[in-house]
Amino acid sequence: MQRITVLGATGSIGVSTLDVVARHPDRYAVYALSAHSRVDELAAQCIQFRPARAVVGSAAAADRLASLLRAAGVSTEVAWGEQALCAIASAPEVDSVMAAIVGAAGLAPTLAAARAGKKVLLANKEALVMSGQLFMDAVHASGAVLLPIDSEHNAIFQSMPQFGGKMPEVRHAPAGVAKILLTASGGPFLTRDVATLDAVTPEQACKHPNWSMGRKISVDSATMMNKGLEVIEAHWLFGAPAEQIEVVIHPQSVIHSMVSYVDGSVLAQLGNPDMRTPIAHALAYPERIESGVAQLDLTQIATLQFHQPDFDRFPCLALAFEALRAGGTAPALLNAANEVAVQAFLDRKIGFRQIDRVIGQVVDQLPHGDAHSIEAVLAQDAAARAAADACIAGLAR
Ligand code: NDP
Ligand code: MG
Repeated sequence: MQRITVLGATGSIGVSTLDVVARHPDRYAVYALSAHSRVDELAAQCIQFRPARAVVGSAAAADRLASLLRAAGVSTEVAWGEQALCAIASAPEVDSVMAAIVGAAGLAPTLAAARAGKKVLLANKEALVMSGQLFMDAVHASGAVLLPIDSEHNAIFQSMPQFGGKMPEVRHAPAGVAKILLTASGGPFLTRDVATLDAVTPEQACKHPNWSMGRKISVDSATMMNKGLEVIEAHWLFGAPAEQIEVVIHPQSVIHSMVSYVDGSVLAQLGNPDMRTPIAHALAYPERIESGVAQLDLTQIATLQFHQPDFDRFPCLALAFEALRAGGTAPALLNAANEVAVQAFLDRKIGFRQIDRVIGQVVDQLPHGDAHSIEAVLAQDAAARAAADACIAGLAR
């Protein structure tokens, strides 16, 4: 029996995780769940899965959750705040941690799980983008097992069988790898007239053609910052330099990514676009379990297309490559400025094309430091958020 903590249980990945878990009560037990403010959803999950502990984002949310659970006769212990998140991620009772909080808020608990040597199922790519070296060092020092949930990285992992279930300790991809081919759908604005992009609404940006996801990652997919963050994520997970990572637009989202080898072989992982496949893969690794996802019918798909990304249409992708090449805290600055800019876009304070302007200005304006400690990374994160706020305040819509 594997005991699991799901961080971000009420989100898109959290709900898909619990869907897979519920299919296998003989294999998985839920130790703890967390949410930020969606207390009713978390209460329903606690009633169904009976975790020992549940964590929310504020004292008021904790009070409400506790009273809902009392009324339902559920004895889950309720707590709130970052320390409590770290505690449920690192408790000795836990075997596996699904890291599915969105954004920088996931860094501390995800790192706590890595330091405690857990099996870490990593969806929260922002944590790795911010603190790549520190995070990978923590994984290697504790002997944690790190399994990627992001569909592309899960596909790459499956296409590198020579890993034997461990991420490389050295900072280069396994011998024989020529390139990592990271596929991207291109999102909802792949073919839209660029001149009309500033008029798009949050609703249009969140309407992804293939995937159903949380709002932040949906906007990231529309700007292709999501792919940019994934390039940085692939660098840390697979030890590949920027030059070894290529983004390929593949609008059907059937091939989830590929690895090209020096002998001319290309290995790929295919499937219907449903996150329950990578979640089930990582939960059961190295075994295979049923996930609820329909089998892929290739004759129904018939056509798979591939082309190069247009960096003028998607400046965020170029910004992410630049941040990876700059190194140090540049990716943390990029990530923080992006989180603030995306929230401002969702709040209708800035237009879609101003997202990349805000990020570009913040990364140019602030000095890049050394990412040698979490404190240094968090200081840069805070500085970038303040600079992004100032930049947004100065932008007239
Ligand atoms: P959602 O927005 O759907 O869910 C986010 C979860 O995090 C919710 O449980 C939310 O709680 C919680 N949360 C939000 N803010 C905070 C905070 N400040 N402190 C603690 N918890 C918080 O996001 P997704 O599920 O879409 O994405 C989660 C992560 O997985 C992201 O890093 C994303 O990049 C990554 N990912 C997602 C994919 C997808 O298909 N959705 C695919 C690949 C990666 P509440 O509900 O109470 O607000
Ligand atoms: Mg992805």
